[in-house]
Amino acid sequence: MLIRLALPSDLPQVRDRLRAVFGPQRADHRLDPVSQLIRAVLGVRTYDEVAWAAFIRLRAAYPNWTALGEAEADAVEQVIDPVTFADQKARQLPVLVRMIRLKRGDLELDFLAHEPVDEAMAWLMRLPGVGPHAAAATLNLSTLDQRAMVVDAHVNRVARRLGLTARQGDAAHAHDEILDLAPDAWDGEALAELHHLMKAHGQSICSHLDPACTLCALREACPRVGVTRDQEGEVVAFAPSLPDASQPRV
Ligand code: SF4
Repeated sequence: MLIRLALPSDLPQVRDRLRAVFGPQRADHRLDPVSQLIRAVLGVRTYDEVAWAAFIRLRAAYPNWTALGEAEADAVEQVIDPVTFADQKARQLPVLVRMIRLKRGDLELDFLAHEPVDEAMAWLMRLPGVGPHAAAATLNLSTLDQRAMVVDAHVNRVARRLGLTARQGDAAHAHDEILDLAPDAWDGEALAELHHLMKAHGQSICSHLDPACTLCALREACPRVGVTRDQEGEVVAFAPSLPDASQPRV
């Protein structure tokens, strides 16, 4: 079945086209909000597989997160290394745990389900090491299942190239801009699926250095903001100044 895509801002069509490539994305398991927050902080500028491995080691070392709040930074760093900025995150995580307990009287974040998303985001971003990405991941990907959009580096790049977000905008603005385009009927699950689809697209097709536009399911409507002709792989293939110009680039 042909899925028509007239504008990249048509998020249901973007979702459907990417779903046709990567399949439906459904969460099999959701972490509790505190665990998801810790997982998200570990994941800042870190590959998923590295962050997940560090999270599993951290959980094994501190089966009760309250104990993480009492841990020495050096001990935490040994457990979470080699995540990016391990020393910094090892200092932030115990403070983060203690701050939640101090502010809430308990180590829980379930109350955020009853707050407006923008206020819940702001509350989380006052914790050490928590930016828009980690805050949105806590609200959207955990059992809170709130209507937030996780904008990591891959999603941010795809959204910018599609013209969904401002070219120079940061992740916080991108979060708000994508939410503004999302249909009102979309719940947290729908936004989580869009995140996973756009991330998979950014990791495989719309990569940082070499977007495979000729293979892209969104190419008809994509304005390719910031993508050079060289990156698209068209001019390079036929540029007469290149020694192997007669050989199309694959
Ligand atoms: S057409 Fe190119 S720039 Fe646009 S989404 Fe596809 S791969 Fe990315």
